[in-house]
Amino acid sequence: SDARLLEIRIMAYGDNQKLLLARDVTRLRQLEQMRRDFVANVSHELKTPLTVLQGYLEIMSMMPAQDEKQVQAMTDQTLRMKGLVDQLLTLSKIEVSTEVDPARRIAMGLLLEQVAEEARAVSAGRHTISVEIDPALDMFGDELQIRSACANLVQNAVNYTPEGGQIRVSWRHREGVGRFEVQDSGEGIAPEHLPRLTERFYRVDRARSRQTGGSGLGLAIVKHALNHHNSHLEIQSVPGEGSTFGFSIPSNLISAQQPARA
Ligand code: ADP
Repeated sequence: SDARLLEIRIMAYGDNQKLLLARDVTRLRQLEQMRRDFVANVSHELKTPLTVLQGYLEIMSMMPAQDEKQVQAMTDQTLRMKGLVDQLLTLSKIEVSTEVDPARRIAMGLLLEQVAEEARAVSAGRHTISVEIDPALDMFGDELQIRSACANLVQNAVNYTPEGGQIRVSWRHREGVGRFEVQDSGEGIAPEHLPRLTERFYRVDRARSRQTGGSGLGLAIVKHALNHHNSHLEIQSVPGEGSTFGFSIPSNLISAQQPARA
């Protein structure tokens, strides 16, 4: 249709004077939409060839007289690319979802235990990962988004904490809101990086992050997921000592009743 989208700004100046500015953002919004669709399509299309590659590599690795190192290197890179594509898909899904259905109850205790279990698998005994949960505290929202947010934060804690480190995950009441925190004893982040950390592909140390297999999309996913739940990411960090990533879920999206039984 030829409906136009206008962005209106009203500015006050002088003695009760007002200035109204209108900008036609139709084209801008169309371009944004096209970019999001493109990313979603590309990630989706990449999934199939990657799965095929992975399958053949698995077969190759079982055949005799193979150069094991080469097959292993190809397998690692394929897995990395698959991780990146998965993250891209998650981000584009979360970016386009406008409203969150507030009626869906999320069993946070179960979700966080699963998230911690996955993190323990990645850590493979190199870190102590503890979870402290108020079992009666659930929240309402989009389970996939909240799971992605929590999983990315806990995985990061594992990725950026040296061997022997401590990681604490907590979810409890604090002054009327639901408070999630993951605290690590890792390398920490210098203050100048903090404002840009949730930008797509922003990393403090590119080489280091590549080693951990990171995509640079994790915190962008967290940011969008939390925005949809009237929340935002808070980061506290002391270089060389560790970081705490946290968010608060407002009172209208939490429940203090007994968790629903499946
Ligand atoms: P990546 O896939 O590179 O981990 P993220 O978006 O999840 O991407 O994080 C962006 C960057 O923020 C990381 O590359 C890393 O430099 C920094 N970062 C995230 N979490 C932590 C943490 N717990 N401790 C130290 N640095 C972190």
